[in-house]
Amino acid sequence: MSERFTGSFTQQEPIPEAGIEAAVAVMRHGRLHRYNTVDGEIAEAALLEEEFAAYTGARFCLGLASGGAAMACALRACGVKPGDPVLSNAFTLAPVPGAIASMGARPVFVEVTEDLTIDFAHLEAQAKATGAKVLLLSHMRGHVCDMEALVSLCDRLGLKVIEDCAHTMGAAWKGVASGRHGAVGCYSTQTYKHMNSGEGGLLVTDDEELAARAVLLSGSYMLFARHRAAPGAEVFERLKLDIPNVSSRMDNLRAAILRPQIGMLEDRRARWRVLYQGMEAGLAGVAGVQLIARPQAEDYVGSSFQFLLPGWEAARVVRFLAGAAARGVELKWFGAADPQGFTSRYSHWRYAAPEVLPQTDRVLAGLIDMRLPLTFAPGDVAQIARIIGEEVAVAAAARELSPVAAPTAD
Ligand SMILES: *Cc1c(COP(=O)(O)O)cnc(C)c1O
Repeated sequence: MSERFTGSFTQQEPIPEAGIEAAVAVMRHGRLHRYNTVDGEIAEAALLEEEFAAYTGARFCLGLASGGAAMACALRACGVKPGDPVLSNAFTLAPVPGAIASMGARPVFVEVTEDLTIDFAHLEAQAKATGAKVLLLSHMRGHVCDMEALVSLCDRLGLKVIEDCAHTMGAAWKGVASGRHGAVGCYSTQTYKHMNSGEGGLLVTDDEELAARAVLLSGSYMLFARHRAAPGAEVFERLKLDIPNVSSRMDNLRAAILRPQIGMLEDRRARWRVLYQGMEAGLAGVAGVQLIARPQAEDYVGSSFQFLLPGWEAARVVRFLAGAAARGVELKWFGAADPQGFTSRYSHWRYAAPEVLPQTDRVLAGLIDMRLPLTFAPGDVAQIARIIGEEVAVAAAARELSPVAAPTAD
């Protein structure tokens, strides 16, 4: 009998007791709305922002209802208008083009490299072809491009950078926290990310005008003075009558759950790295598998793992995925013809203008993806890697393959 993995790829760790206690206290007093405070009380949401600003080293921080809401808020705060082109990596998740489309702007996709980061030459070409002023850079699955090179290229092209750090909270490039290289950094605290409040988002910036716009946009009414990681009242006075309320606030319940998790990010990163490196070691040398290069300068978190099956036809990948699934190893594939579960790719987002991205198509056709929840032990990843290695070998040798629809750029 071949071994079978019986763990769950979607089981996160529980909320820390301190978060549970703080959340219960909020429910007991009933003041869940961030602006519902009694005299002298500082809202959990305001404290979360102050603490996350300190953690990232940013001057300003704003809590929001989701990562997608944080990106949309950042785009609006940067002055993106309906019809404007906004650049983004073609390899990203649906909330990224969705945030762009939510304000009637146009997603313009940039090719991805085999390192799963944005292709600089194509970025330059797309910026020049469209006249875009903003890049929503997604550090998809935690892969960070050379941020110094990116920032200098974007400066030269007149592009403002908004970082999507949904997979890089707690990561750094050359010691600088992810989210601190561009004008704005956006984070998600959705259950599968690095801090868990079910849903939630955070935004950081050093720019006081952007910060004030973001606070007003999030729906601060005229209570912006209750924010602690925000600019002074004079900045708000200039703007308060011109910025619409697009309600997307963080509430005290979720903030209470999140605050104790900030201090756990370092430890979580270290534990994720052990799991990630266990997968790398387990798959090193497996014929047919190409691992993703991780640069020295990148202090990554490793909450998920990707590898390539370069040049594999769709039917062979499907055979491999079925073999792994039958042994309890749940993998996702970015080359599937149709979107499935959380996984979709740029050609599935039909509200965006169709683009032909042959390099991205080639990479995604062989791109396999899996979660590494912290409930896994090092022995679990060793077993998963063994099963993957065996199933890759079986699929590579298979002669009979059932026909499947090849991925199409519809
Ligand atoms: C999860 C995620 C987001 C934000 O998602 P929300 O569910 O809106 O918090 C943004 N970008 C990527 C790449 C993501 O995976």
